Amino acid sequence: MRALLAMVLGVFLAGAPALAQDAAPLILPEKLKQIAPSVWIIPDESRPMVPNVGLVVGQTGILVIDTGMGDKNGAIVAAVARKLAPNLRIYLVTTHFHPEHDMGANGFPRGPRMLDGSTLLRASTQEQDIAEFGCSVCKIFSDRSPAAADLLKGATYRAADISFENDRMLDLGGVRAYIFAAGPNHTRGDTGIWVETEQVLFSGDIVMKPQPSFASPYSSIAHWQSTLDSLAQLRPRTIVPSHGPTGGPELIAGYKSYFTEIQERAAAAKKAKSSEDDAVSAITAAMAGRFPDKNRLAGAIRSAYTESP
Ligand SMILES: [Zn+2]
Repeated sequence: MRALLAMVLGVFLAGAPALAQDAAPLILPEKLKQIAPSVWIIPDESRPMVPNVGLVVGQTGILVIDTGMGDKNGAIVAAVARKLAPNLRIYLVTTHFHPEHDMGANGFPRGPRMLDGSTLLRASTQEQDIAEFGCSVCKIFSDRSPAAADLLKGATYRAADISFENDRMLDLGGVRAYIFAAGPNHTRGDTGIWVETEQVLFSGDIVMKPQPSFASPYSSIAHWQSTLDSLAQLRPRTIVPSHGPTGGPELIAGYKSYFTEIQERAAAAKKAKSSEDDAVSAITAAMAGRFPDKNRLAGAIRSAYTESP
């Protein structure tokens, strides 16, 4: 399992460019922008180790999606939430357990009264990921730059206030957010948020413009395909991925066709008795011109090869 995890993490991380020494992966609150009547985002501007942060504001509560890495980022995001909704309860949900999404939760306010604190919701599959893997990538992230190391120093996972099995409807007062566990895709605990009133989907790493990353030993291309079908059925008007630019249904279609091509090529290679490694080389050679992240390609090809009958 350890070797497999190291391989998986290599695939997960190798595609990301190294950070400049001075570019701390901080959430930039001045970038806050409204994308629907109840929905704001703080875009990541495609910076590594930074997520897109979502904020959904109702009449009785505000839901924050993803924290940024470390307590400092969590406090930055919490301050934006407080400013958008000065007198409302803060709910927090994370799209998966990787540190830039979840490990700022301790920077959010804690307190016994409704308005003092914040309520962290987490899918039970995400809790399993934390229990099994912990922050396996923290050291690798920390090694990338002193600024990243500084943010992660002493960072820990906050315990969830509400752990849910499959899904949870959160009524924010006039706005409802449907929070659902959708893994195993990028990770086992992948969590999406559907703001049904405004047809906005927060898709985590399940749908993005950058190539998909098979970051868990549990990642499954077949399951990921079925997740994409379910998300397409929602007919989202806007998709906010956890990294990269916001888009529409074409982001789902892009992942569908990428996976389908890989599945077809991997099935053909396996049928022709190619080894897994040979299939990875051949399919990578055929596709890397269009999809340059070879490590991410390899992760998808290996999953497709293994799962092909
Ligand atoms: Zn991730």
